Amino acid sequence: MAIEALSPGQSTAWKDRVLPEVESVGEGVWAIPVPIPDNPLVYTYSYAIADGSGVVLIDAGWDGAEQHRALTSALDSLGFGARDIRGVAITHYHRDHIGLVPALLNANPDMWVAMHGEDIRALERFRTEAVDMGTGVDPTVDIARSYGVPRERWTEIESLLLGRGKMASVLQLDRMPENVLVLDDGSALPIDGGTIRALWTPGHTYGHSVFVRDDDDLLFSGDHVLPTITPNIGLDSAAITHSLGDYLRSLDKIGTLTPETSVLPAHGFRFRGLHDRARELVAHHHERLAEIRARMEETGDHSVYSIAQGLHWSRGFDELHHFNLFAALAETAAHMHYLGLEVGAGALGAK
Ligand SMILES: [Zn+2]
Repeated sequence: MAIEALSPGQSTAWKDRVLPEVESVGEGVWAIPVPIPDNPLVYTYSYAIADGSGVVLIDAGWDGAEQHRALTSALDSLGFGARDIRGVAITHYHRDHIGLVPALLNANPDMWVAMHGEDIRALERFRTEAVDMGTGVDPTVDIARSYGVPRERWTEIESLLLGRGKMASVLQLDRMPENVLVLDDGSALPIDGGTIRALWTPGHTYGHSVFVRDDDDLLFSGDHVLPTITPNIGLDSAAITHSLGDYLRSLDKIGTLTPETSVLPAHGFRFRGLHDRARELVAHHHERLAEIRARMEETGDHSVYSIAQGLHWSRGFDELHHFNLFAALAETAAHMHYLGLEVGAGALGAK
């Protein structure tokens, strides 16, 4: 079964990898694309939800002057100024989702910021420890060696870890905002009219949450369920050690939502067919697991690198470099761990 795209404009923009128009996607809900620089995803949707005379956002987009302008001018065209933003609910801590939060707080310090407790903890860790935010890796762990990466490629992995601590300062997270709402599974956002509840969907990050408006069956799915791409599982600092199991359980969890649900993802385009898409994602991971089992039989080198080398990658394993190589290894490690296989480095990121 295929998913049903709900917006020709959004689908075309995604196919052409250009910014779509700001679009009304529900009663008092708008999708605002915020550009991501030099990234094949091109944009993150920030969703604006009317809240009395103000507005609440779900995700804020990547940081930067151009991004800030894109978001604020879209809000302005909808009749909302910076001071009208009551709060921002964040699906997960990645930069393309929280990047603009400091700029929004600067303009409106009274605004609340809502996020799952586990992702707040992850951010606190980035702020206080030298953990790289792009890779989520503790620099004391020698990833390259423990994953069995050949010596001539060590620098590709190590160069990623040099930027550690940098992200936290880019995000100006010298301190957390005053008004933080710590979300748990089932928490309601403080919005007048129309309840929006958070569902904890660990996997892509350990604190990933989606938001559900039951009145009209809207699902703000963040990166948990996307229409055409598979969210990376295994990159989160909170661990490859349970990310795939969590992710598969989180896909089950959204299976309780009605098939009529309109899915409003952070990337791509809005669609209906949540259950079919969730089944495709589950099938994808099971295929991956089967590939890994086959590769294990085929080679005596059971390092993460060697296993990854034998898997199918859309651009080919040899074309994976730097961050993409790292992401592929992390994803392989998460799948191997799910199968109960040794992935090296002891309990990598086991916190
Ligand atoms: Zn994202």
